[in-house]
Amino acid sequence: MNPRFKAIEIISARKSSTVEGTKNSSPSDIFGKHVFNRKVMQQMLPREIYKNILNAMNGSEKIKPEYADTIAVAMKEWAIKLGATHYSHWFQPLTSASAEKHDSFIDWKTSDEILEKFSGKQLLQGEPDASSFPSGGLRSTYEARGYTGWDPTSPVFVWQGGDGLTLCIPSIFFSWTGDVLDTKIPLLRSDKKINDALMRVLKAAGIQAESVYSTLGCEQEYFVIDRALKNLRPDLLLTGRTVIGADSPKGQELQDHYFGSVKDRVLSYMQDFEIAALQLGIPVKTRHNEVAPAQHEVAPVFEKSSTAVDHNILLMELMRQIAAKHQLSCLLHEKPFQGLNGSGKHCNWSLSTDTGINLLDPTETPGKSLHFLILVTAILHAVHKHAALLRAAVGSASNDYRLGGHEAPPAIISVYLGHEMEQILENIEKKGSYNKTSAKDLYDLGLLVIPDLTKDNTDRNRTSPFAFTGNKFEFRAVCSSANTTFPMTDLNAVVAESINLMMDEIDSQLTAKKTSLEKLTKAAIPVIRKYLKISRPIRFSGDNYSEEWKKEASKRSLPNISKSYKAFEALKSATTVEAFQGILTKQELNSRYEIALETYSHVLNIETKVIIDLFYNQVMPAASKHQLNLAESISECEDVIGKGKGLKAQKLMLKNFTQTLEEAIELAADLESKRTKALQSPLLKQAQAFGDQIIDLSEKLRALIDRLETQVDDSLWPLPKYREILFLI
Ligand code: ADP
Ligand code: MG
Repeated sequence: MNPRFKAIEIISARKSSTVEGTKNSSPSDIFGKHVFNRKVMQQMLPREIYKNILNAMNGSEKIKPEYADTIAVAMKEWAIKLGATHYSHWFQPLTSASAEKHDSFIDWKTSDEILEKFSGKQLLQGEPDASSFPSGGLRSTYEARGYTGWDPTSPVFVWQGGDGLTLCIPSIFFSWTGDVLDTKIPLLRSDKKINDALMRVLKAAGIQAESVYSTLGCEQEYFVIDRALKNLRPDLLLTGRTVIGADSPKGQELQDHYFGSVKDRVLSYMQDFEIAALQLGIPVKTRHNEVAPAQHEVAPVFEKSSTAVDHNILLMELMRQIAAKHQLSCLLHEKPFQGLNGSGKHCNWSLSTDTGINLLDPTETPGKSLHFLILVTAILHAVHKHAALLRAAVGSASNDYRLGGHEAPPAIISVYLGHEMEQILENIEKKGSYNKTSAKDLYDLGLLVIPDLTKDNTDRNRTSPFAFTGNKFEFRAVCSSANTTFPMTDLNAVVAESINLMMDEIDSQLTAKKTSLEKLTKAAIPVIRKYLKISRPIRFSGDNYSEEWKKEASKRSLPNISKSYKAFEALKSATTVEAFQGILTKQELNSRYEIALETYSHVLNIETKVIIDLFYNQVMPAASKHQLNLAESISECEDVIGKGKGLKAQKLMLKNFTQTLEEAIELAADLESKRTKALQSPLLKQAQAFGDQIIDLSEKLRALIDRLETQVDDSLWPLPKYREILFLI
């Protein structure tokens, strides 16, 4: 039996599984059950130690080494009570996945007895063998030492996997030479940098706060398909996307999936991973069907970005693992299916004070909105100046399939502000000259117009890669499988730089030490105006999907970098090195460049090998069999009706089919030789060969294979078809 049909039979017999624990407990009951949270710490630790951890959590104090043993014992006891047997430093190396190495708590008690032990030293620092993690030339294999260190800003948790539990300690990762080998250290540093920059603004504007941090809420899109079908698709297994597959006769054109009712099996799955997420303290809130068939979204309530990035990685892992329990498969790839919407991870980003003021929501500080104007202006300036870097931050071989595709933002970075904000900024730009307009007018402009801006009356632009949504910016170009740490670090870094540039100029206008809001406004408006003018080209309210925008963007000299490998250059440009001062060194940025480039080629090389493999092993045999059947049928018919007496259409069909197959055979051979040749080139040349030449050839081969798929006898085609993968659950 064709394995496809067997899989369909299995799927038809599946029932949706019930989710334990949904009936009896509310989200607030289970929330944070697997987190070593404030409540637990307060109960288990002496007051001064608890206070020390709280300060470390908000970044104002280091964990005192003399407290480490007591904290470790409390953590161990708490974790063992939940069933944990092992502990692990959990960190984010430069692979875009998280890493963990489990050690059990065991130690010798006597020469033939063991006990459970966990020391302060083990809590504070670990030393995994770092030699196999990418370092982008920062470290050679023989200098393998890499250290992990507990990062108390992110909560310690217990992870359930298999039948066991592990105490996980969120950690940073660095080399013996002190080089940064992870994505977390730069984020923490960038948060500090934007804190310092914004505190300058807040102090001057008279807004009470001790500190500022960035906030993040990730809207995570994903596909869910049946596992039996996925297992029959080597491309989905190995690359996360279908490298071949003809369109389903029905796709997303009816738009009936968007916000449609969620199928039972999928809903049970959602409920299941939501429970696990809530236990880990991940505040999942929103779930719905997305535009493409089998596509969905989950969004948590936003958090401090350093916690939100960890939570997003954990959530993705939960979604992958729990899908298997439901005989489903969660596809987090940004473009699993050609011709349908890809998946994004819209990063909603804002800045908040420790006192809870959202600095991008002017309604939260009635009568005081100058800081908001400075901040928005700095953001526009930063995005304009570093558009190529932000493109690089969301760059990957896989996101290139999505950007500029169905309902995805283009590769051109621009900012959408909404009608009201545009008007406010235009007013400042036009009337901003202090000579022509009275101080009163401008002051009023800041105070009267801006508070009118509310979340509800900012319109939306779903086509923009970076959109203001009334109280936050939505970075929509980030893709579904991404680790959001780097895009967030970039945003913080470049915006901090622009705030500092503006504040230097504003400060130089303020002669007196003590200043009033009025004086500050007077000094700030010309600076705001100047920076708005510089960044004018980055503001775009129209349709980002249109061809006209591409032309207009080129007139405005905005970078339009469709291939990520070209964007990665920006990681090591002089402007990036400057903006990253205190976050990553020139050498460390260069290492990110090398890793990005290397990964880009690896991904495309794997995809190319998979399509060639599929062609020879699955497509060719099925197509040849079909060809033979056609030929035999023609010849047998001719035996009956006589040679040359008809069958013209059948013969033409066979001829065309044979021609397509022949073209595909030639192309596959060509592709394989280009692929092996590319591998011999140095890094950049290799990425160029894959990104410019090999991808095009692969797509040509795909088009031929997809044509064959629509013609071959259905019972001969071994690979699950789009219509089955997308609609059978
Ligand atoms: P949309 O209507 O854009 O689909 P969603 O409700 O799906 O919106 O997601 C919006 C996301 O933005 C949520 O994760 C939400 O918590 C987050 N968000 C709201 N306010 C802020 C903020 N101040 N900072 C960061 N993220 C925020
Ligand atoms: Mg949403």
